[in-house]
Amino acid sequence: MRKIRIDADVESIADEFQLELDKHKTEILQAIRELKEKFDGSHSLTRKGTAMDAAEVKKCYDYIDQLENDYDNGSLTLMKPNDFEKTHQTYKGYLKDQELKWSISIDRDKATPLHRRLTGAMGYQTIVRDEIYPPLMRKMGIKACVYCNANYTVSAEKGSGKGYFELDHWKPESKYPFLCTSFYNLQPCCPHCNKRKSASDKYEFLKLYEEDQNVPLDVFEFQITKGSIVRYFNKLDTSHIKVSFKATDASVKKLRNDAEQKFGIEGIYNEHIDVIEEMLWRAKFYDNVIVGSMTWLYGKRNSIVDVARFKLGTYAEEDEIHKRPLTKMMQDLGKQLGII
Ligand SMILES: [Zn+2]
Repeated sequence: MRKIRIDADVESIADEFQLELDKHKTEILQAIRELKEKFDGSHSLTRKGTAMDAAEVKKCYDYIDQLENDYDNGSLTLMKPNDFEKTHQTYKGYLKDQELKWSISIDRDKATPLHRRLTGAMGYQTIVRDEIYPPLMRKMGIKACVYCNANYTVSAEKGSGKGYFELDHWKPESKYPFLCTSFYNLQPCCPHCNKRKSASDKYEFLKLYEEDQNVPLDVFEFQITKGSIVRYFNKLDTSHIKVSFKATDASVKKLRNDAEQKFGIEGIYNEHIDVIEEMLWRAKFYDNVIVGSMTWLYGKRNSIVDVARFKLGTYAEEDEIHKRPLTKMMQDLGKQLGII
């Protein structure tokens, strides 16, 4: 919904991520090496019930060997998004995207797609998603889905009921398993968007971290028409309230259309009309006299109360939209209605 510029603050969190991951480096390298050795020619490897031929086995071995080297020299964890594709080309030299889906049985164990075995060896789920990542996301203030900004990213685990952060790989792990624990490829999102995005990576708007200084961070805008506001107050009927999802200008219209088509943004937001109704009342209630008194009362006390946040009912700074669901829409409408 809004990109995050890779600046010194983000880089310092990414450095912490690397430090934490480094504590597991020996164990992860060992797991990668053990997986590689399964393809050294001395094991029984079958695919769809048929023995794999020597050329296929060698390709897998070379792929994992490249991964082991890159993991060992530390080039993957903090790789920047602009380098993802170039690295992908190197890995594609060993195994094509489709070949990573080969469901392989090793020494008669349960057939498992190769990319799953790779992400398992790299500790994506157990070490990164469940252990290292959550405290860092709390630090970054990301609790809302980076795609729709309408839902929280926390899910409960099946069985244990334990909460965990739903994470998406911008470059899907089925095609880019070597990036499965790369900081700038991990994007917190809601279960709804994770399901709808699936393995898609062709849309530019899906990328969260931006290293290019000239790329705008925010190209979407929510709007409510003046007519719908008038009609609502005439009848006090919320069915007159409609929110629309727009591109900030014609040059980014394709990004908007892609986001709408992929996640159904307008449909989701028009289910939150009660929030907009409260905003319409807030815009009427907080006249200059009330705001003046609030500022006089609280503004002086070293900002104990953030007056803009109080009036809006959520975070009021543009770079805070990831802290709480619906904040992007509330900020956009708050500006339109003169609340902030
Ligand atoms: Zn979402």
